[in-house]
Amino acid sequence: MSMFCFQCEQTAGGKGCTVNGVCGKKENTANLQDKLTGKLIALSRFVSKKGATEESDALVIDCLFTTITNVSFDDRRIEALEKSVDSYITSKGGSTEGLDMNSLWHSGDEDVRSLKSLLLFGLRGMAAYAHHAAAIGKKSREVNDFFYKGLAAIGADHTVPELLELNMEAGGVNLKCMELLDAANTGAYRVPVPTNVTTNVAPGPFIVVTGHDLHDLAELLDQVKGTGVSVYTHGEMLPCHAYPELKKYPELKGNFGTAWQNQQKEFDGVPGAFLFTTNCLMPVRPSYADRVFTTSVVAYPELVHIPPVNGKKDFSPVIGKAKELGGYAEERKMTGINGGSVLTTGYGHGTVLSVADKVIDAVKKGAIKHFFLVGGCDGAKPGRNYYTEFVQKSPKDTVILTLACGKYRFNDLDLGTIGGLPRIMDMGQCNDAYSAIRVALALADAFKCGVNELPLTLVLSWYEQKAVCILLTLLSLGIKNIYLGPTLPAFVSSNVLKVLVDKWNVTPISTAEADLKNILG
Ligand code: SF4
Repeated sequence: MSMFCFQCEQTAGGKGCTVNGVCGKKENTANLQDKLTGKLIALSRFVSKKGATEESDALVIDCLFTTITNVSFDDRRIEALEKSVDSYITSKGGSTEGLDMNSLWHSGDEDVRSLKSLLLFGLRGMAAYAHHAAAIGKKSREVNDFFYKGLAAIGADHTVPELLELNMEAGGVNLKCMELLDAANTGAYRVPVPTNVTTNVAPGPFIVVTGHDLHDLAELLDQVKGTGVSVYTHGEMLPCHAYPELKKYPELKGNFGTAWQNQQKEFDGVPGAFLFTTNCLMPVRPSYADRVFTTSVVAYPELVHIPPVNGKKDFSPVIGKAKELGGYAEERKMTGINGGSVLTTGYGHGTVLSVADKVIDAVKKGAIKHFFLVGGCDGAKPGRNYYTEFVQKSPKDTVILTLACGKYRFNDLDLGTIGGLPRIMDMGQCNDAYSAIRVALALADAFKCGVNELPLTLVLSWYEQKAVCILLTLLSLGIKNIYLGPTLPAFVSSNVLKVLVDKWNVTPISTAEADLKNILG
């Protein structure tokens, strides 16, 4: 076995990638990421004794984020990060001896391996959120301290009950991290408002921005002013259209393409430039590699990377490439996966709670019988059409709240309205699970019951590690009866799964019909 990785949903054979990653990650990259993770455990041990600094916080966040699925394929950048961790520790007289991750991946105790992996992957996901919040100047000592605590625990001996407790603590801290990011995004770009977004592309030069980082998009929008270059969102950037301080730019025109797993097909032959601010980057095909740019921790060999210089990014190479390519001569008609050409977003907690009276009234009068939160990450494996079918078959007196890129399975469907509200409400990116939690807690408060007594069911799709930290948050809040798919994580052992089922009634998805019947009776 030359590598081992089982952190995402598409892992080979549902067990683990051992030769090359299904995601395109090579053996050497996987092993360098393991080495980097082992070094982070050394850093965490050191910080636990000597205290954290701004530099150690930035290092731990960037390094964890780098190891998320589809973020970095660039060995040189991973090695450079490892060197930075080493020099940080040695410059302060500490020991760089961390953990050989093989001792975790091949541990004889599968429950300890399972719970430590769950914790590590949750920390990786949470690091992405902490990174985005920090880009807008919001940081939390409590969140940052937990990165060290969690990593140090992965490198230490712990019992199964202790590890379960640490995972619940991670879920609680991630709620605070998502709250921090929500405050950062709404503070800088104001509260999202319902917004219709076209899937068509106007004539002329354009840039497609993908990933999750609102700050990068804002900087780019400032720089395209007066250049004649338009900007389109892609994937998880779609909700950016709803933020008043981003939608004010006339250059922000629409949304290009569908979810991340279709990028190799959808980017091919397109006369525009592409900017990746975070995952999910797939191996870049030579036919369009000349027009793909990366920034932040995203990296791929040979692509042009836009680094920050004195806290600012210069996107002129991206703008220059868009001008050189020239865009389409005429409007290009594009659609979502079901043929629709208008997407609606902007139903975060600010919007939904502003019409809470209307929602509560509709429930009391029986106009709304049930809420479903259908969302999470999309992915390439077959079986994900379950989510399209689930939404299509949901009764007309039910509301679909959605978030993250899983929504591309159905966000171009017109399901009509209930009491003036659309039946599908897009709450935003994956971190906007925070919005869903706020809405659920407010409804529970209004109906004087617990969240588990509400007519609300979470039907989640997972792919990478941000979904892991969100799941930990939901479990830490005691939210039960979650339907999870399309397959269960390979890193969940049978005993850990039993705990998830016994304590929280986590249920693997089956078919849309059977699950709807089971939920609605
Ligand atoms: Fe395999 Fe997923 Fe790891 Fe890539 S990230 S190597 S696909 S488990």
